[in-house]
Amino acid sequence: AGLGATVTVVNGSDGERQRAEAAELEALGVTVRLGDGDTLPEGTELVVTTPGWKPTSPLFRAAEQAGVPVWGDVELAWRLRRPDAPPWLAVTGTNGKTTTVRMLAAILEAEGLRTAAVGNIGVPLVDVVLSDEPYDVLAVELSSYQLHWAPSVRPHSATVLNLAPDHLDWHGSMAAYAADKGRIYEGNTVACVYNAADGVTEDLVRRADVEEGCRAIGFTLGTPGPSQLGVVEGILVDRAFVANRQQQAQELAEVADITPAAPHNIANALAAAALARAFGVRPTAVRDGLRAFHPDAHRIQHIADIGGVAYVDDSKATNTHAAEASLAAYEHIVWIAGGLAKGATFDELVRKSAARLRGVVLIGADRALIREALARHAPDVPVADLDRTDTGAMPEAVREAARLAEPGDTVLLAPACASMDMFVNYTKRGDAFADAVRELTAPDH
Ligand code: ADP
Repeated sequence: AGLGATVTVVNGSDGERQRAEAAELEALGVTVRLGDGDTLPEGTELVVTTPGWKPTSPLFRAAEQAGVPVWGDVELAWRLRRPDAPPWLAVTGTNGKTTTVRMLAAILEAEGLRTAAVGNIGVPLVDVVLSDEPYDVLAVELSSYQLHWAPSVRPHSATVLNLAPDHLDWHGSMAAYAADKGRIYEGNTVACVYNAADGVTEDLVRRADVEEGCRAIGFTLGTPGPSQLGVVEGILVDRAFVANRQQQAQELAEVADITPAAPHNIANALAAAALARAFGVRPTAVRDGLRAFHPDAHRIQHIADIGGVAYVDDSKATNTHAAEASLAAYEHIVWIAGGLAKGATFDELVRKSAARLRGVVLIGADRALIREALARHAPDVPVADLDRTDTGAMPEAVREAARLAEPGDTVLLAPACASMDMFVNYTKRGDAFADAVRELTAPDH
């Protein structure tokens, strides 16, 4: 509306909240239509959608029939860029997007570049491209939803970090989910960065229509092949962007420079380093940026050490793929898990993690699914099923975990589930965990 378009906001619901929002929007000169989310308003020339709407929504079908394009906010931002707009280094994947984008921004900053971490992490891209801030380059996080509706976005370089089943109710199938993620490589000019341990990501690069001269660059936790970044004896090395032919590999940083130095996070660091190197960033800036980086809260966040036991908040582990990564980061674990499963199964996660489990404390609506998987694959591991879905369950879960833990163990909140059965969001769940851990040390305990 600020740019002069005539805007109608459509919301299929018509409740108290929607009416309050409508009043605010109408004050901006926008027409609001509540209670009909299916038909296309008369005279529509463009639909701009939010991720909440499934692609199968009737309104989109109506738009297609009428030859009206449908864009997401990312597509809108791309189209609104100014001619001298900064290039995008783009990141997607099932897990690790926010972490990698923040690492990337830290590395670009260490190089002295004016940059910001934007997109699916708080700052809407439309606001960024319309601002007068003089950026040299943007570190852009893109979700699969955003990529679905972003047909003409062309990053400088991009990565799909990993692919595991998630959001399949929205995309319809794993193939459709992968295809939407793969869109991020379309039209890349310098580098398509893939995960050498996740063959699907490399396939997506192969299928993408990239600019001439654009290279496929892999990252691996092992020794890198040519055109890869990897790890050799605790050192992150780059064999893709070496300065001259004689040079075999370029040292970038030490694994110890990464917080936390868990395998999945080393992979995130390698992906961020690859995108930065594709943009011409020097090795020393990769090291300095990784040292300066600290993870966002609730992502493998160390809360306290009490009686030789570490308490770690990974409330952001809202699916099994993420929980598997954090369970792989510790040797002896008392695992606090459960919540809303979103259709997931837990057999593989439990099978892979069983040997590391000292004990398990279960909370939340779908905890029976995890309990049953534990009975199948880890029958000897003690399980405390709290049979609670109220927020008060967290202090009890933490006390129970403290009882099960032995010195040297880690009590890990990595629920493998969404939080909304018990908490407003994963942040509140993590806060409740941290509060409960602090309670353990309170004088009356
Ligand atoms: P996203 O933005 O994709 O949700 P985050 O960086 O916020 O990713 O991390 C989400 C969760 O996923 C973290 O709590 C962590 O346990 C897990 N995680 C982070 N990076 C990876 C990775 N490369 N592979 C698997 N799990 C990961």
